[in-house]
Amino acid sequence: MTVIEKAERLKKLPPYLFKEIDRKKEELLKKGMDIVDLGVGDPDLPTPKCIIEELKRSADDPANHRYPSYSGMNDFKYAAADWCKKRFGIDLDPEREVLSLIGSKEGIAHFPLAFINPGDVSLVPTPAYPVYNIATMFAGGRSWFMPLLKKNDFLPDLDSIPADVLKQAKLLFINYPNNPTGATAELSFFSRVVEFAKKNNILVCHDAAYTEMNFDGYRAPSFLQAPGAKDVAIEFHSLSKTFNMTGWRIGFAVGNRDAVEGLGAIKSNIDSGVFQAVQLAGIEGLKNYDALVADIMPVYAKRRELMIKGLNDAGLQVAQSKATFYLWVSAPEGYTSADFAAKLLELGVVVTPGNGFGEPGEGYIRMALTQKIDRLEEAISRIKKLK
Ligand SMILES: *Cc1c(COP(=O)(O)O)cnc(C)c1O
Repeated sequence: MTVIEKAERLKKLPPYLFKEIDRKKEELLKKGMDIVDLGVGDPDLPTPKCIIEELKRSADDPANHRYPSYSGMNDFKYAAADWCKKRFGIDLDPEREVLSLIGSKEGIAHFPLAFINPGDVSLVPTPAYPVYNIATMFAGGRSWFMPLLKKNDFLPDLDSIPADVLKQAKLLFINYPNNPTGATAELSFFSRVVEFAKKNNILVCHDAAYTEMNFDGYRAPSFLQAPGAKDVAIEFHSLSKTFNMTGWRIGFAVGNRDAVEGLGAIKSNIDSGVFQAVQLAGIEGLKNYDALVADIMPVYAKRRELMIKGLNDAGLQVAQSKATFYLWVSAPEGYTSADFAAKLLELGVVVTPGNGFGEPGEGYIRMALTQKIDRLEEAISRIKKLK
């Protein structure tokens, strides 16, 4: 029999840590158990009507049926630059400092191919979205993990990175507001990162997927608002979480023109851009940002308030947060992340064990606020049975 050997990069993939919980969930669902799934970070709300209407119109136009221009339709890039100016006050050259993406995950995943040589190092937070590490690995590089600890407000401790690692470091990944911890970063931290990047000749990749999911009057900054950031940084924006568009696959990168150009060169050899009708629908979202976000975010705010109160009443501790639709909840004394997630699953509530995002996430579970109020109330009443 022919043996089809997989490439080393696939063999080196870390084990999938949610396998056990997925298996148990399937088993309980098969038994007919009612389950409240707070596991996935995927909005349950529909995409706003005006965006869908624009897609319908644009899909009918044969001009949109051909390949889009390789680096994104200019209209989308101009709309993205305009939105960044209005939202963050940052100035961008739409033709050289903006690139459309097939979702921000796509851009993040391809980025190391443009800048990592074998042996180069990426500085990667942990716990984190897994793509930073895996994309580095796929490009032949290796990750140096920066733990995000509560005692540091879930910010990386840049001073603790050894000098020999810094010599090999090419990229630094950060993500604020943060998945999974919900932590935020202020401009003063971003400014320190800019200094650090300049001193050590490192390119910063900021994942800005959650900058628009803010609560209690907070407004998350863009990394590019830090003085000098454009000399050293690229920032990845997503329409997915902001406009409930995860299935549409559209996002954009902004920042340093060499970084944008490098990613564009990789992409032009891999994909052929985003369906123009989807880009036009995305423009509609960006143009109506204020009204749309004013509709969407209060829904999460209400859910968040209900859950934090319910969890606190149940004796559980939730990490302080002003952003994202995640709650980072401490497992009670005597429970590991996996124990606690398994226990909640027995009660019919799915959560994500924190150690699945990296070892320093041990002792936490992540809950996503992606269920309606009545289902969240149901989850809380089940969680209260823990006592
Ligand atoms: C959801 C998510 C993304 C990916 O968003 P897309 O634009 O849909 O690809 C990127 N980073 C983080 C941290 C996310 O949670």
